[in-house]
Amino acid sequence: MNYSHDYQLLIKNIFLAPICNNPHQEIVYKDEKRFTYAQFKKRVCALANLLTSQGVKAGDTVAVMDYDSHRYLECYFAIPMIGAILHTINIRLSPEQILYTIDHAEDDVLLVHNDFLPVLDQIKGRMDVNKFIVLSEDDTIAKTSLHVEGEYEALLLTCKDSFDFPDFDENTRATTFYTTGTTGMPKGVYFTHRQLVLHTLGTLSTLGSAPKQGSFNQSDVYMPITPMFHVHAWGLPYVATFLGVKQVYPGRYVPDLILELIDKEKVTFSHCVPTIMHMLFNSPKIDQVDLSKWKVIIGGAALPKAMCLEGMKRGIDLFTGYGMSETCPILTLAQLTPEMLALDASSQSDIRIRTGRPMGLVQIKIVDDEMREVAHNGESTGEIVVRSPWLTQGYFKDQKNSEILWHGGYLHTGDMANINTQGYIKITDRTKDIIKVGGEWVSSLELEDIINQHSAVKEVAVIGISDERWGERPLALIVMDESKKDESIEKSILSHTKEFIKKGIMAREGMLLKMQFVQSIDKTSVGKINKRILREKYGH
Ligand code: AMP
Repeated sequence: MNYSHDYQLLIKNIFLAPICNNPHQEIVYKDEKRFTYAQFKKRVCALANLLTSQGVKAGDTVAVMDYDSHRYLECYFAIPMIGAILHTINIRLSPEQILYTIDHAEDDVLLVHNDFLPVLDQIKGRMDVNKFIVLSEDDTIAKTSLHVEGEYEALLLTCKDSFDFPDFDENTRATTFYTTGTTGMPKGVYFTHRQLVLHTLGTLSTLGSAPKQGSFNQSDVYMPITPMFHVHAWGLPYVATFLGVKQVYPGRYVPDLILELIDKEKVTFSHCVPTIMHMLFNSPKIDQVDLSKWKVIIGGAALPKAMCLEGMKRGIDLFTGYGMSETCPILTLAQLTPEMLALDASSQSDIRIRTGRPMGLVQIKIVDDEMREVAHNGESTGEIVVRSPWLTQGYFKDQKNSEILWHGGYLHTGDMANINTQGYIKITDRTKDIIKVGGEWVSSLELEDIINQHSAVKEVAVIGISDERWGERPLALIVMDESKKDESIEKSILSHTKEFIKKGIMAREGMLLKMQFVQSIDKTSVGKINKRILREKYGH
């Protein structure tokens, strides 16, 4: 007979048994609202009561469309803690893609910010959801043709602020969201309670044990500047709540407000994609703010050396993090050893901009086509494959792509990299045919398909080229039908592409398309377009 308690790794245990129980510590929303942790806990309980009163049961899916907010943080906890699944909807997808993800995830209830009601109005009647709760900045509900249950704050006030969160199997699905594939509609990834708890512990043990540089600990003030719809804002809201630190949520990203919050709330730890940092560096307000206590993980795309040096000049502790939607997300961090901190700025930045070393519990291999590990010499390249307890088990309802993802028992990242003798990885290329424009994906294959439909185009290949502002932009290499060539051809191809954007078939970032007219397009020995050669020739 076993008398012991079979402790399950549930999100409720991050919530109920944090490292620091700080009931008076604050959670701040923009320059507008402040809550203590004690109030936050009551609000999470009230939200759990609200959802159950709306009929949400274990196994149901509750979707959210919001900016980075205290409300989103409440959803991160209340929804999985009642046994339901949190679907964080990518608000930047086109209405058609949002409709697809709502259907595919089988959403039952949707919490939607006033600003996104027009998107839902567009797809009304085609969604299989009939319960909507409105998230509002000022307690009002914007005009909509949807029948809504009410406004979040008003509804929370009607609910009891205690809730007995149940125990259940740690392998229960907790979250889901969608990532852009190379072709077709977005692909769903999903994570269990156990995975999210282990990701929280793994991240915390790697960041929390850093001797000086690149640490996140009990003395920090946390503010995310990556969207909370994307991979749990890199899992760091769970880490921050577990640590019991002050948290600041900036709402819709407005550079001046972000800088003001860093200054006023004394923010010391954040994470963002390079495009956001670029935006902050270009804000006139930046020179008025002391950033010398600010630590920032840059991820989602490579950290450019110039940006790293500029940040370091301002006293910011900038360093790279790497991961992907499929990996919960964090896999590596480019933290420096104490000896490296003695190096000059340029040599230090060379390490900070590498992709980093694997976090605790993350097994990374860099392999050739036969899954043989390449030499750790900082030169030999191969694909990053990975094993860790927090990787998605597959794509939701998509066995074929799940098998490809997990081919040979390792998760295949589609990222090409080298690894040096000190164990720091550096991504050098990507095998997946997608382009990351300011943190959002554009499928090169879909762009090719669209451009190919233009009558003056004989052949086209789309690659990503580096761009100072956007990180990457799509470049279309086009072989023209000479008989149809005229001076306005670029304009004509752009407006042709715009039509597909209007129909919601192509992401808005498709408009950042650049074009180059070429005589021929390089092919591999089997006649496929050779993207690697094209990137080498035209990618810089
Ligand atoms: P996503 O699934 O949208 O989060 O994108 C993940 C992909 O972004 C990775 O597979 C990489 O191709 C790219 N990525 C993420 N972080 C980095 C980084 N630090 N350096 C270079 N590429 C990155």
